[in-house]
Amino acid sequence: MRIKIGKANDNDYVVNNPYVSRHHAQLSREPGGCLLLEDLDSANGTFVNEIQIMKKRITPTDTVRLGGAFILNISEVLKSRNDYSNEFAALKVIYDTYIEQKIKIQSSNQFKTRLFQSLPFALPGVIGVVFGFMGKGSSTLLGISLFVAVCAPTMGIYLGAKQSAKIPRQLQDLANQFKIDYVCPKCGTFLGELPWESLANKKQCPSCKAKWVIDE
Ligand SMILES: [Zn+2]
Repeated sequence: MRIKIGKANDNDYVVNNPYVSRHHAQLSREPGGCLLLEDLDSANGTFVNEIQIMKKRITPTDTVRLGGAFILNISEVLKSRNDYSNEFAALKVIYDTYIEQKIKIQSSNQFKTRLFQSLPFALPGVIGVVFGFMGKGSSTLLGISLFVAVCAPTMGIYLGAKQSAKIPRQLQDLANQFKIDYVCPKCGTFLGELPWESLANKKQCPSCKAKWVIDE
């Protein structure tokens, strides 16, 4: 977490005060949980309990002054947290898994569909082999053979269609879960099927402006 404070609009916490610099200070949380306040070479300085600092660990009860007179409300600043880079990074796994699953469903179904479509066509051939073994074909066997020859393709089309109809259902379930998981970590807006990398290039949420990627 890092919150930039200053007069410029690109700060996370914008302060409108003539003695506050454009990029005045930043507040971050250290891995141990402590709050660290840093002055960003401001013109009029940053003060903690009336002592000028460049970098200091603070608690929300400390009095922080920017420049001549602006008292910074630490709990308000903490509410303006806008760095969602860690949460956003976790979405990459969700996207990759979704694509992987989708391809898996599609290709396994494609294989089964083809199998079901072509399998019944093999039947007339099998019947022919049976005839061969039996020597002379009787009219009953000829009848069966003709029946199978007509039915097999129909059967293939039916089974193939039935199998391919399973795809939408499975894909729908997958897409529904994806819509729940692949959302902006701050405002919850579904991020569409855009690849994670394309979103990362945007660096922030178009809806809520949460920062996804922090430029160092
Ligand atoms: Zn958002």
